[in-house]
Amino acid sequence: MNYIGAHVSISGGVHNAPANAAAIGASGFALFTKNQRQWHAKPLTDEGIRQFRDAMSEHGFKPEQTLPHDSYLINLGHPEEEKREKSLKAFIDELRRCHALGLPMLNFHPGSHLRKISEETCLDLIAESLNRALEVTEGVTCVLENTAGQGSNVGYRFEHLGHIIDKVEDKSRVGVCIDTCHAYASGYDISDQENYDRTMADFDEIVGFKFLRGMHLNDCKSEFGSRVDRHHSLGKGTLGLEAFRCIVNDDRIDGIPMVLETIDQDLWPEEIELLKGMAK
Ligand SMILES: [Zn+2]
Ligand SMILES: [Zn+2]
Repeated sequence: MNYIGAHVSISGGVHNAPANAAAIGASGFALFTKNQRQWHAKPLTDEGIRQFRDAMSEHGFKPEQTLPHDSYLINLGHPEEEKREKSLKAFIDELRRCHALGLPMLNFHPGSHLRKISEETCLDLIAESLNRALEVTEGVTCVLENTAGQGSNVGYRFEHLGHIIDKVEDKSRVGVCIDTCHAYASGYDISDQENYDRTMADFDEIVGFKFLRGMHLNDCKSEFGSRVDRHHSLGKGTLGLEAFRCIVNDDRIDGIPMVLETIDQDLWPEEIELLKGMAK
């Protein structure tokens, strides 16, 4: 069984996330552990941590049903050392916040080369940043997300994710999250069973299902292969519903959070119902 939900708000404090997830009928959820548009965050207080843990048990969520997401400002492959260090520091802080909240994963976008270094150098820098982050933290797995390949973002090929994982020393603390919109926009067809099977066979060969720790379930507003990152509500975009039927019925994917980041939050309860109903 997978944990189906959405990326819910932490407005008013992280302790509000479990109630927000429960209110939409979610069995899993994603959250930020701080304001994602700012570098600095007030440290979590003991009281805040206690409130969060209480809310988790009150609403019946276990830590593995969550997939925290890091700040969009962080670029672990930044070509400039000073800025990369700033990102690494913020990333380490986020790993520690997750650990303090008792949450076992942190989902992040690999990074961007900003057209100043090659993709390969950027991927190497990301792996190096991860090794340093893992060395000084404990208990939290870093979950790389595939990207649409917009701008200078790396991570739009399974080979990029495989390249990073290859160079991470502690493979027990690195994983992958597949975003369906990003996959489709970057040229991986998953829109029907035949194409889904072919794409996921590639994924298994290049990355491996054993590293799959989460999924982002989004339809796509942009065209197939466009490398434009625009999410859409399920069944309303270019990807279509069949992809999601394939995913929720794939026996190789089990016990992980599956998170909607679709554009109309009012539809989340219906979309969650739809996904649960699709599972045979
Ligand atoms: Zn995503
Ligand atoms: Zn996206």
